[in-house]
Amino acid sequence: MAEEHVDILAFGAHADDVEIGMGGTLAKYAEAGKKIVICDLTEAELSSNGSVSIRKHEAMKAARHLGVIERVTLDIPDRGVYLSDENITKVVEVIRKYKPKAVFAPFEQDRHPDHGNASRLVKEAYFSSGIRKFNPSSPVHKAGKLYFYIINGFHRPHFVVNIENFIEAKLLSLRAYESQFEQGKDGVSTPLTEDYIEAVEARERMMGKDAGVRFAEGFFSYNTLILNQDLLGE
Ligand SMILES: [Zn+2]
Repeated sequence: MAEEHVDILAFGAHADDVEIGMGGTLAKYAEAGKKIVICDLTEAELSSNGSVSIRKHEAMKAARHLGVIERVTLDIPDRGVYLSDENITKVVEVIRKYKPKAVFAPFEQDRHPDHGNASRLVKEAYFSSGIRKFNPSSPVHKAGKLYFYIINGFHRPHFVVNIENFIEAKLLSLRAYESQFEQGKDGVSTPLTEDYIEAVEARERMMGKDAGVRFAEGFFSYNTLILNQDLLGE
């Protein structure tokens, strides 16, 4: 059991979501000594390739590449990431247990409905975890920040994090998911097996280019952020 009060708690619907969207950012904050926990909402039991046990093994390997201290998996059904009281409570309990400063979830606009549903579910739980009378058996926790990372496709983000020194760690974590990103001899072709990692790398290069760095990851926030950089770029 990791020590509670983590810095970042990053939720994904399936193992690999978090790495695709924000692996570089996690590696960056881990190197700075920040405590990071990943929570996969499902076991991704409906994945076209790989099995639950293979995917868990790959997920732990990926987490080690990023310097994540703990990775947990909830038992919400794959393709069943719905806004139910039961699911909200499960996510609330994870937030209350780890007491993160910042929570991350997938961006709502995504071709995969589980990612959009995960986004809404975590947003609900983020708010409910700070409400004293919601499931009062566990102590409340108000995480200060909620951000959304991009899994599939390209969206113009609200802000980016410079990951030019952490793109290799990100790619290493993605390559840990051999069952997902390589077809293998018994596997089937999916959107993930067709140059997916290369496309993610190209996207982060594009995100970086727009911001004047080599690689970046894009994020969304419901709150307006304060510029932590001189307006003159000095
Ligand atoms: Zn996913």
